[in-house]
Amino acid sequence: MKAAVLAFGARHPLSFVGPDAEPDWKTAEKHFICVIEEIMGEAIPPRGGVTSTVRRAENAAIALLLALNEATAYRCPICVRQQRA
Ligand SMILES: [Zn+2]
Repeated sequence: MKAAVLAFGARHPLSFVGPDAEPDWKTAEKHFICVIEEIMGEAIPPRGGVTSTVRRAENAAIALLLALNEATAYRCPICVRQQRA
C-alpha cells in the first residue's frame, strides 16, 4: 500500500517547476481513494461484507497503480479527467 501511494504521489507534484518539486500528498491520497471507489463502483457487497470488498478494491488499486508506475508517460486518471472538465 505504502509503495503504491509513494509512486502515486510522485505523479502529483505541487508544481511543475523543476524536478525537485515536492509531491502533493493530499491530492495524491484523494485521487487514490477516488480510484478505489471507481473500482468498487456501485457493486453490492457479496458474502464477506463491505470490509472484504473494500479490501479487495484497495488491493486492485494498489496493483494497478504499481503497474502503471512502470509507464513513464502515465498520468493519474483522476487528474486527467479534472483537467478535461
Ligand atoms: Zn491525480
